Amino acid sequence: MSTAFGQSTVLGYPRIGDNRELKRAVEAYWAGRIDAEELAATAAALRAQVWRTLRDARLDAIPSNTFSYYDHMLDTAVAVGAVPHRFARLGLSDLDTYFAMARGVDTEPALELTKWFDTNYHYLVPEIGSGTVFVPNPAKALAEYREARELGVESRPVLVGPATFLLLAKTTEPGGDPFDRLTDLVDVYAELLRSLAAAGVRWVQLDEPAYVADRSTAEVDALREAYTRLCAVRQRPAIFVASYFGELGDALPALLDTPVEAVGLDLVAGTGNLRRLAGAGPLRGKTIVAGLVDGRNVWRTDPRAAVAAGAAVAGLADHVAVSTSCSLLHVPVDLSVETALDPALRQRLAFARQKVDEVVLLGRALRDGATSLPEPLPPTPTEWRDDTVRGRLAALRPTDRQRGAYPERAAAQQTRLSLPPLPTTTIGSFPQTDELRRARAEHRAGRLDAAAYTQLMRAEVEHVIRLQERLGLDVLVHGEPERNDMVQYFGEQLSGFAATEHGWVQSYGSRCVRPPIIHGDVARRSPMTVTWSTYAQSLTDRPVKGMLTGPVTILAWSFVRSDQPLADTADQVALALRDECRDLEAAGIRVIQVDEPALRETLPLRRADQKAYLDWAVGAFRLATCGVADDTQIHTHLCYSEFGEVITAIDALDADVTSIEASRSRMEVLDDLAAVGYGRGVGPGVWDIHSPRVPSRAEVVDALRRAVAVVPAERLWVNPDCGLKTRGYPEVEASLEHLVAAAAELRGS
Ligand code: GLN
Ligand code: ZN
Repeated sequence: MSTAFGQSTVLGYPRIGDNRELKRAVEAYWAGRIDAEELAATAAALRAQVWRTLRDARLDAIPSNTFSYYDHMLDTAVAVGAVPHRFARLGLSDLDTYFAMARGVDTEPALELTKWFDTNYHYLVPEIGSGTVFVPNPAKALAEYREARELGVESRPVLVGPATFLLLAKTTEPGGDPFDRLTDLVDVYAELLRSLAAAGVRWVQLDEPAYVADRSTAEVDALREAYTRLCAVRQRPAIFVASYFGELGDALPALLDTPVEAVGLDLVAGTGNLRRLAGAGPLRGKTIVAGLVDGRNVWRTDPRAAVAAGAAVAGLADHVAVSTSCSLLHVPVDLSVETALDPALRQRLAFARQKVDEVVLLGRALRDGATSLPEPLPPTPTEWRDDTVRGRLAALRPTDRQRGAYPERAAAQQTRLSLPPLPTTTIGSFPQTDELRRARAEHRAGRLDAAAYTQLMRAEVEHVIRLQERLGLDVLVHGEPERNDMVQYFGEQLSGFAATEHGWVQSYGSRCVRPPIIHGDVARRSPMTVTWSTYAQSLTDRPVKGMLTGPVTILAWSFVRSDQPLADTADQVALALRDECRDLEAAGIRVIQVDEPALRETLPLRRADQKAYLDWAVGAFRLATCGVADDTQIHTHLCYSEFGEVITAIDALDADVTSIEASRSRMEVLDDLAAVGYGRGVGPGVWDIHSPRVPSRAEVVDALRRAVAVVPAERLWVNPDCGLKTRGYPEVEASLEHLVAAAAELRGS
């Protein structure tokens, strides 16, 4: 067991391949174009490529079992036998059972998908009940370990740790708590450790990131006990407990109390970890794996600062290894293919492949003394600075984030809009047909000229407007056919943003996103949405909603500069949106929606940090939306129904109308909003657009009856849960018809 950890490691590496080969292969398998064998061969080639890359980069502690066909939480569920009966009974092959859990089948909905901490990665939520029988299934971890060994790589299998696994799981039983099953689960992890040791595994990595969020004393005690028990396993590999995304707090001394051989700390997102480590007393026999290279953002590491932090850790522990702050899953694969990027930006960036080099270099510098460190970066180019924007920000006053009193606003808006009670609307996008996607791609590739492209898009807008008129909706949308993505669309038009060509990052399963990079001051070059909105408005007398993405969401789905506070970058984006709102208003747009679906997902993991975040987040939204006159109606849209800690902030946004997801939670959000005194317009979603199912008119009526019991009809809006871009036209027409008919029925009663 006394085996050295190594000098340098990464907690995980992108598994999608240099060119999203994994996406193509699994999608081909789902479509029946390739068989399981071919899929397995592609997967093995991708894994081999990663191991060779890491080995050739001279990383000396290399992880395995970080590959996944879909998601690492799902892999861990399979490794501990937590396959719910509803999937096991389908009698499918192991691989198809796995994909059934991930994607559902006709008769069984998939496991729930939710955000991995405060990242944009989504994991599948294990379903654990009192009847779940945990069984060790080390097959995947063993196979990957052996594959790596074939390539001459002695690897360290990675699993989600037992405590985090249960803390992120959900129960199917009322009143149940998956965490109650920790003792049983630890027995199974003990078995897994024995099997790995028997195969020759020397180190194993167990990830416990759940402990960087607030945890009860009981949960911290349970962690200590779990690892004390795992360490008591006679034949086992050395145990490395990894944490990431923040500070471990009380869980750090608890882990150091146990005989685990190594503990990993995120020293990028959790700078307080170092202080806590210093206070923990002598760390005899322990390796501290120092996460010095940011695994979540794309900036190059400042070598001097990193070496200084590493040296501080070295002064406390027997051995220090350098690592990334978290898995590199969250950054694009390789910067070297981004040949079109501005060189001044490129030299400041590091993607996964480059971060491996940084880790290796820092590991050597810590061992041999910091002799040959790369030069620190030159100062930020002056062209990235925009003194006009900076001047405007400096001159802001509190009144710039305030509108008139709501009753006066509501009256002025009603005079201008004359909407019926229970007005009907949609969230913005209409189905994105293959034809539209093709047109955008052809236009981007230069094969479809601007005039032809605009004509196609205008035809689509007209089609969507006519459809909405025919269906009888009250507030129309233009349908967003010109938008590839709600953040990228704006990123491409704002200065201070850069787009990559190949910078894909896994979002969930086979879905990847390509976040823009915010590197400089943000400013609007010219109006971004006005021509589309005014064209749509020119086709109809009914109000057409302008459609913008809010500042918090734009930041959440981008890589953001780290040389100034997020609040300042958010305000710069907000100023650009404020100008856009004013231009829309001046062009005759009477209703403007500013989407903030990411408001809750970037909420800091620790309660102590949440207020500061919500203050700037709400401030930026208000800066974006408070520049319009009282009679312009501001909507916002949020894509979740469990508000928790953000409910007061949602009220503080001061939007005239808030549309929210509600159909799955049966309108409970309305009570939550009422409880904080929310008294403006609200549109609880009455159609779950995440499913192709068409809600019946009676169902919508039923949902609306529940809603009018809580919210007066003058303030209640009728709309779907979210945008319709992933749906097909037949369901959209049928569902919207029922929605409009249901509103009419309630108005009549
Ligand atoms: N307006 C966007 C749409 O309708 C909102 C998307 C979202 O909430 N994620 O697609
Ligand atoms: Zn939404």
